[in-house]
Amino acid sequence: MNRVYNFSAGPAVMPVEVLEEARENMLSLGDTGIGVMEHSHRGKPFVAVAEQAEANCRKLANISDDYAVLFLQGGASTQFFTVPQNLLSKDKTADYLVTGSWSKKAVKEAKLFGNVNIACSSEDRNFCYIPKECSYSDAPAYVHFTSNNTIFGTQFATEPEGPAGAPLVCDASSDIFSRPIDVSKYGIIYAGAQKNLGPSGLTLVIIRKDLIEQGPSDLPSMLQYRTHANNDSMFNTPPTFGIFAMGLVFKWIEKQGGLAGVAQKNAAKAKPLYDYLDGSSLFKATADQDSRSLMNVCFVTGDADKDAKFIASAKEEGFDGLKGHRSVGGMRASIYNAFPAEGVTALVDFMRDFEAKNG
Ligand code: PMP
Repeated sequence: MNRVYNFSAGPAVMPVEVLEEARENMLSLGDTGIGVMEHSHRGKPFVAVAEQAEANCRKLANISDDYAVLFLQGGASTQFFTVPQNLLSKDKTADYLVTGSWSKKAVKEAKLFGNVNIACSSEDRNFCYIPKECSYSDAPAYVHFTSNNTIFGTQFATEPEGPAGAPLVCDASSDIFSRPIDVSKYGIIYAGAQKNLGPSGLTLVIIRKDLIEQGPSDLPSMLQYRTHANNDSMFNTPPTFGIFAMGLVFKWIEKQGGLAGVAQKNAAKAKPLYDYLDGSSLFKATADQDSRSLMNVCFVTGDADKDAKFIASAKEEGFDGLKGHRSVGGMRASIYNAFPAEGVTALVDFMRDFEAKNG
């Protein structure tokens, strides 16, 4: 089978080993004679799958018992309102670091439930950098940030330090488990699965247990974190296949040397592309050097026609998904954990060739 280099921002490339193991289990989970998607979520075989996925996740990120690991639905976009619905109220303020379109969307939802203080924003330069200074409110209900800005190709080097005692809430959709993370510094970490963790349709939420109990108990059951925590994410029918696949991805990351191993690989993988961009006279990286993402590399030629020509020629050569997000244009190479390093060097060779002919 001819698999092309898939630079899609998400759903994105998954590890071949994971896909192969998933394929085998699609017809029969282990020796049960029933495919993984066909098992009842309440039956022993699938409960074992879910428990294993949670155990793999806890091991990978060294997550203590002070945190619940939840497998939810509705994407990161549902967390944009579930977080404030549970932790914010009209008499409280939450602080948001606005570093891209997804943070802005999170702010919009939070305003439905309480006050929002924009602690910093990089919108003045079209989100091409991560602000260095934040202006926090007094005792915010929480501090929310987006660790990696998928559309603009910027990434926090490390988590921001909010006011003491304010839970840190992170939308880690596009860089979760791409590097070590000290979970104990966070109140909530959430991520849609479809970039670094597996198939779309599943959202991973890691939440400190004391925060679960802070949520109002008069919300619809599905919107309360406690419902999912008290029912091992099986209050309703969970996305069983997604949980199975995510468990395999956790195991695969462990085999890559865990989070430290995968971080090293990701840094080495992005380097040739950024190095080439820095030396190119045709292409230019759009993010400030100190804010660059190792997950989404955004670049332009400065000429929309040339960008379009590049994207079309690249596709013909087997480099798919390089078109930048419609709100910014240009190109974006999404190179999450599962993207192979040789795909990046092949892209750089192709860009060099394109530059020689079109520069
Ligand atoms: N946050 C970030 C950083 C994202 O990249 C995305 C999706 N690309 C979202 C949130 C929205 O995620 P979902 O589609 O899972 O709701």
